[in-house]
Amino acid sequence: MQDTRATLTAEGECPIGQESDDCPGFDRFAFARFIANQECAQAFVGVVDDAWLQGWHESNGGNLSYRLREEERDAYHRYLEKPLGGSKWTDLDCSVPELAGEYFLVTAAGSHFRTVRRKSSATTGLVEIRGDGKAWRVIGGFEGQGVVGRSFGKPTSEFAAHVAVHAARKRISQGRSRAVYHAHPAQVIALTAVLPQDSRTVSRILWKSLTESILVIPEGVGVLPWMVPGSGGLAQATSALMEKHAAVLWPWHGLCCAADSLEGAFGLVHTIEKASSIYLRARAAHKQQEDELPHSISDAQLLEAAQAFGVALNKDFLA
Ligand SMILES: [Zn+2]
Repeated sequence: MQDTRATLTAEGECPIGQESDDCPGFDRFAFARFIANQECAQAFVGVVDDAWLQGWHESNGGNLSYRLREEERDAYHRYLEKPLGGSKWTDLDCSVPELAGEYFLVTAAGSHFRTVRRKSSATTGLVEIRGDGKAWRVIGGFEGQGVVGRSFGKPTSEFAAHVAVHAARKRISQGRSRAVYHAHPAQVIALTAVLPQDSRTVSRILWKSLTESILVIPEGVGVLPWMVPGSGGLAQATSALMEKHAAVLWPWHGLCCAADSLEGAFGLVHTIEKASSIYLRARAAHKQQEDELPHSISDAQLLEAAQAFGVALNKDFLA
């Protein structure tokens, strides 16, 4: 019988792929130390916990990624007791030169937000983008067994979408954007069963339901048509719409948000979910047939508030 333990290639790759338990190229303790001690990793686990408590992540729904700062990448290297190993490179569908060499902390494929704090070395991991921006590999975490008895072994199945969104948002934010978050908030999803799927209608309703939402989504929310979850088409359409919007709504599915910080990404989902819930309650109470409620903030009042807050409201969505 063949020995299944692998040895590293000259390039430092684990030839058996992503089975980190069998690959001596991984320093498992380094990742555990990173998760336990790094502020960004603790913030990551904290947001996952909070999101679970909000009820946005049934079963293994939703995923989160965070692009490490240079000093956080350096900190990971300091935790390593042997040279950085990694799994085999996996080609990306698209080239992302703007993310070359970047490290991402990512939730695992099949992981449950409910268990991330207890099993963080299994349910999260670190992924590196190759220097040419055309491939990725696992460099830490994703250890242990998933719910169906397989090693988690890899990042979320939506990783391609996360990469595409990170690339777009990093470019338009001059490097500030770091977090991409996908959740299944119930009120937002219910909203898509009530309203037409167009960005203008949905954005106006959110603004008019909760005045201070204009501080969080001044550019409004982008709305896509329904698409197959995890598909390349959804990834492409989302990253294109996120050139204009920090939050994109996937009808009958959920939200994809990007922000400069993990807290900012959580805040986007929280705000949009709350505004949706206010709208749905008011509409039900009125037994309303029209989309816009009979008593709500006028466009002039929205502009007045935007001026007072110093935010540039998307005028394409105003009358
Ligand atoms: Zn989803």
